[in-house]
Amino acid sequence: MHGRLGKLEHIGIAVRDLEEAKRLYGDVLGFRLTGEKELPDRGLRVAFLETGNTKIELLQGMTPESAIARHIEKRGPGIQHLCFSVDDIRRVMGELKADGVEMIDAEPRRGAEGRLVAFMHPRSTLGVLLELEEK
Ligand code: ZN
Repeated sequence: MHGRLGKLEHIGIAVRDLEEAKRLYGDVLGFRLTGEKELPDRGLRVAFLETGNTKIELLQGMTPESAIARHIEKRGPGIQHLCFSVDDIRRVMGELKADGVEMIDAEPRRGAEGRLVAFMHPRSTLGVLLELEEK
């Protein structure tokens, strides 16, 4: 069971206003902005920031139907997911499924940074949305 997941890769934070969130994390808290992306197919704007060896993604929904907008509607802004690095995402997904963890993604897909990612369903992970990202 050891070593299935690697280190915490990043924390995803749902925000209503990306510019306001960048000012807080960048100007006030001193995170470094390392990139920004619009993913219109997923109704998502994302900013990547880091401090020390911790990375965060600030996530803003572009449409009311987007996953982020729906998350904010239900729970308000705040931590949306935790992402962990894995060496071999297909192997880990297979092992998790065998152990009864429900995956949202049946197959890995390309995440915001272009790496392979997959999400576990929060109803099988005690309410926390967990993401896997292949190194
Ligand atoms: Zn993520």
